[in-house]
Amino acid sequence: MINQKVLLKNETTYRFGGMCKNFFLLNDKKDLDNFDEYDIFDEYFILGKGSNVAFSENEFDGAVIQSKINYIDFDNKTNKLELGSGTYLPDLSRFLKSKNLSDGEFLLGIPGTVGGALSMNAGCYGYEFLDYVEAFEYFDIKSKKIKKIKKSQINYGYRFTDIDDSIILSVTMIFPDGDPDKISKNMKEFTNHRKNTQPSALYNAGSVFKNGEDYYAAELIENAGLKGYKIDGVRVSEKHSNFFIADKDAKSSALYKLVNFVKDSIFDKYDVMLQEEIIFVGDFS
Ligand SMILES: Cc1cc2nc3c(=O)[nH]c(=O)nc-3n(C[C@H](O)[C@H](O)[C@H](O)COP(=O)(O)OP(=O)(O)OC[C@H]3O[C@@H](n4cnc5c(N)ncnc54)[C@H](O)[C@@H]3O)c2cc1C
Repeated sequence: MINQKVLLKNETTYRFGGMCKNFFLLNDKKDLDNFDEYDIFDEYFILGKGSNVAFSENEFDGAVIQSKINYIDFDNKTNKLELGSGTYLPDLSRFLKSKNLSDGEFLLGIPGTVGGALSMNAGCYGYEFLDYVEAFEYFDIKSKKIKKIKKSQINYGYRFTDIDDSIILSVTMIFPDGDPDKISKNMKEFTNHRKNTQPSALYNAGSVFKNGEDYYAAELIENAGLKGYKIDGVRVSEKHSNFFIADKDAKSSALYKLVNFVKDSIFDKYDVMLQEEIIFVGDFS
């Protein structure tokens, strides 16, 4: 792996983050053969496209490892796909369409990687990533071994998996045969729906909070009168109250303050403790 000095803000959709002197690009699982050389950090953060992450502006002391393992292998007899964990979800969605495989249309608008989507169990429009996963290969940071695990062996749910201390390397997935017209129609509908309901502003990481079993986070935030509420250059979107948008030079500390302000307000008003979907990484004290 190549050790780089990187400004983390350049690696995330929010454009937040300070310096990281130990940023490693993982291009191939063979790069992990000499992991012992890097096994000197207290903390590892595994990064995909950074589309669900807000790094602190302080220097990150640990190591960041970003998966760039990018490939799609397709077996047309079984419809099975083996995907590198760094594969971009919209590329996967378009690949599935090219093979007339359905149910990958929801991935077109999620700007993350296969590894990030597995870790988060990303989803929308009634689809969830894990529904199509059979198994995956990962590097276990503790034992320093590459292992393969079936989906049935992990715990997962809405925007949750219990995959810890692992670098996801590749994922085996299977999608059903589909009708090309229906696939195109779904892609158009989902894209239009996003355009109509979500802000087009650049700097965000999708939904800030998870929905609950009996509430939508956006609805609570809107009903609490917080649409447009702004702290130091980060605001609750006017278009979708669960998207918080950053101005170009805003800091992640402002997002952190806004998230906590909104959580406190919703708790005071509705006795509901919102749970973050976005991930704060680093020191926010
Ligand atoms: C405009 C916009 C729209 C969005 N819409 C949706 C949506 O509809 N539905 C949805 O679920 N999400 C959505 N998101 C959020 C985000 O894109 C997803 O959660 C995505 O799956 C994150 O992937 P990533 O590669 O960017 O992961 P990152 O943000 O880099 O990381 C997210 C988590 O995954 C872990 N991770 C990443 N790669 C690996 C790996 N190789 N091995 C182990 N762990 C890994 C990280 O450690 C972290 O815990 C949206 C974001 C944006 C900006």
